[in-house]
Amino acid sequence: MADVTRSMFDEYMTPNYAPAPMVLTRGEGSRVWDTDGRDYIDFAGGIAVNALGHAAPELVEALTAQAKKLWHVSNAYATDVSIGFAKTLVDATFADRVFFANSGGEANEAALKLARRFAVDRYGSEKSEIISFDDSFHGRTFFTVTVGGQAKYSEGFGPRPDGVTHLPFNDIDALGDAFSEKVCAVMIEPMQGEGGLVAADLAFLQRARALCDAHGALLIFDEVQSGMGRTGELFAYMGMGLVPDILTTAKALGGGIPIAAMLTTNDVASSFVVGTHGSTYGGNPLVTSVAQAVFDIVNTPEFLAEVTRKADLMFSLLGDINDELAVFSDIRGKGLWIGCEVADGGAKPFVDAALAAGVMTLRAGADVVRMAPALNISDEEIREGLERFRSGLISVSEQPAED
Ligand code: PLP
Repeated sequence: MADVTRSMFDEYMTPNYAPAPMVLTRGEGSRVWDTDGRDYIDFAGGIAVNALGHAAPELVEALTAQAKKLWHVSNAYATDVSIGFAKTLVDATFADRVFFANSGGEANEAALKLARRFAVDRYGSEKSEIISFDDSFHGRTFFTVTVGGQAKYSEGFGPRPDGVTHLPFNDIDALGDAFSEKVCAVMIEPMQGEGGLVAADLAFLQRARALCDAHGALLIFDEVQSGMGRTGELFAYMGMGLVPDILTTAKALGGGIPIAAMLTTNDVASSFVVGTHGSTYGGNPLVTSVAQAVFDIVNTPEFLAEVTRKADLMFSLLGDINDELAVFSDIRGKGLWIGCEVADGGAKPFVDAALAAGVMTLRAGADVVRMAPALNISDEEIREGLERFRSGLISVSEQPAED
């Protein structure tokens, strides 16, 4: 392989990304190293993906063991590993059936297509309206950017799929007013991730559930970011006293290997008859063997309790930093999924300064610094990362104000 530099990214890649200035080569636990040998504490977690950090020995073991056995056979053949992982997901959730995909956007695409198909099968083609919410994010396929509540992602690509209504998030009255027999599905993130770590109110979710039941519509929970232990629950819907009809999950599901799943009931799944939908790679044995290993570690009461304990530590230390520096107007989130809203607006300078100080964070919306570290991050890595974060915040406040 040629010697690479960061400028080569801009030379060879399509120009739709603007990654950070370094080139990363190696990771271990919650620490990564760049080509200059500099280390960073990883609070970004590959955008809430690396549930067990980098190069987790259990995942390396699962991956290499499976790599020696069977990688891929396509959906024309069943494999022991993917059947086993589907059963694991069914046993742990409300669902009876699983469809495997490769990314969150694809799982949501499947969910939306299934909801439309189910409505057509049961009630006829008039029942096709999908309700979703402002600032939501559901992926980058054309259907999912259209359903997502951030117009900037769907504008400029020609005519969008129609039959999508966007409503204000957490507005119970607007939801009631908009509902009719034409609605086939409501798609909700139990906590909006890209939208800035904004939780759905329980009363709002309960109303959505009741309206869907009353009108024969399906409730779809997008748990692509909130699922697999991120909030301290296996899935965020657990503990809410209600269940969706369809749930999508990805990101942490594979701990860094591309896999997603759409979970649903027998009744709803019955509309996905042979040939209606598919994916060549979805749920191949290589990815499902890794996801099974992630799941077996994450889905224990002890592990999930540790997520909550570590989250309490992070919230408490962030509170101390903010008491000292008063940068954030709000620090919110659940579990190891934290949003720090910048009081004066504009999270980018803080994310950049944190990186310069040696800690990777993310933005969520324009004004929120987001942290979604590995769920098994150590207390030492949390303390060191937040000490670096504090230095980054101080360096921003020391910069001369722009005119
Ligand atoms: N849904 C939610 C809630 C997400 O946060 C994301 C990604 O950020 C997606 C869907 C899209 O997932 P992917 O990028 O894997 O397609």
